[in-house]
Amino acid sequence: MPSLTFYGGVNEIGGNKILLEADDTRLFLDFGMSFNVASQYFAEFLQPRKCTALADFFELGLLPDIKGIYREDYVKHMGRPAEECSVDAVLLTHAHADHAQYIHFLRTDIPIYCTDATRIILQAIEETGSNPLSDLITACDAFTFYMNKRGTLSRVTRRNREFVHERIFHVLEPEDKVTIGSLEIEMVPVDHSLPGACGYIIHSAEGTLVYTGDIRFHGSNQALSKQFVAKAEAAQPTWLVSEGTRIESVQQDSEAGVKSEITRLIARAQGLVFVEHPIRDLDRVSTIFEAARTNNREFVVPIKLAYFVEALGDLAPFDLPDVKLLVPKKSWGLIDKAGIDWHLVEQDYANWEKPFISRENAITCNELRNNPKHYVVSMSFWDITQLTDIQPKAAIWIKSSCEPFSEEMELDEERKRNWLDRFGIAEYLAHASGHASGPELKAMITEINPERVFPVHTEHPDLFTAFFKNVELVEPGKTYTL
Ligand SMILES: [Zn+2]
Ligand SMILES: [Zn+2]
Repeated sequence: MPSLTFYGGVNEIGGNKILLEADDTRLFLDFGMSFNVASQYFAEFLQPRKCTALADFFELGLLPDIKGIYREDYVKHMGRPAEECSVDAVLLTHAHADHAQYIHFLRTDIPIYCTDATRIILQAIEETGSNPLSDLITACDAFTFYMNKRGTLSRVTRRNREFVHERIFHVLEPEDKVTIGSLEIEMVPVDHSLPGACGYIIHSAEGTLVYTGDIRFHGSNQALSKQFVAKAEAAQPTWLVSEGTRIESVQQDSEAGVKSEITRLIARAQGLVFVEHPIRDLDRVSTIFEAARTNNREFVVPIKLAYFVEALGDLAPFDLPDVKLLVPKKSWGLIDKAGIDWHLVEQDYANWEKPFISRENAITCNELRNNPKHYVVSMSFWDITQLTDIQPKAAIWIKSSCEPFSEEMELDEERKRNWLDRFGIAEYLAHASGHASGPELKAMITEINPERVFPVHTEHPDLFTAFFKNVELVEPGKTYTL
């Protein structure tokens, strides 16, 4: 009989790591980081130690101690004997860290199945991120030496290409059905706050399992979620693993409402408009782009977003030449100094940033300072120091992202407000969540009508029992035979 074991995503929002076993086939549904558990023990300047490989993660329950799934370099460094690979695949629903980040720790010979956009986003995170846990597309051997040209030993870095291993990715298209061992897998796209999100319908000899991933019904791709529900219902599933992030909320969000609010706020603005938003939520990026355009302003994006738009190509809502790129002062800040050799200017930037800083549509803070009413600027708290360079007058800041949900985030929010106060910037809110509301989840589950529901990715799984008869209140690490 097939079984499910939940190693994350239980009584918490995110961290999904769900092991599905059927006959000889074993696969993980997502392999994400649990922010909840991590923040119980760690903070910005107190992180799990790399030198222990996996030991800190095992000790504190951030990763399950399962044989045959972790990378060989880490296992070896812990003094453990070599292991045989013990899972057949990982199915990723999307590239958010709480679903995908911890594939960093997995063996590179475990095939990863996901959508094209998910693979592109993981690649962008690996290439542009500063997170040390981002061996997502490739993995570089850690704790490994090589004989250098001088005949002495050196530590391996990413420059030693022979020690960098490509992971095995299988990109899934809608309607594709793939067989993994005794299971038949169907990827079904859904609407969420990140491109390329999907759910899965998995057929075994004993019945069908549906997994929602993260899902919503109010974004610009809401038709996808409706099709997902129709397909899931038609599959007459025995089991449904459903997200429940907003099960307690009756608030009806709408991306269209966010667009009209941002459009209205820009129309009233007397100076520069800043918009704070999740950088990879392309639905939101598209919303802001169009709101700016309606008001005859140009959208200005940071280099990281520019990189992302270019990597996504046709999957992105606009071409890079349609917007302006904001090149910030970095390192020595030579970008806006006259008469400096370009080769020296470039040294202020990371390799992946260099191709962008000389683009025709690249601008600096000086332009924003001189022509504030021409622009709408994508700006995060982490780039807020640029206000010193911009010296905005009568500017507004639109917060188009979720409310803080941890003490650390609240402190950052307070720091942000201090910056805004200092520059006399008024703040407004315009946001819609990446997740379905309680009534929408109820309607979805009623329509799919599985035999049994496993709520995950929620702090309130008990609320599912109010409207559905056969709800399993999951315990972490316990195996449920289906
Ligand atoms: Zn999530
Ligand atoms: Zn998500």
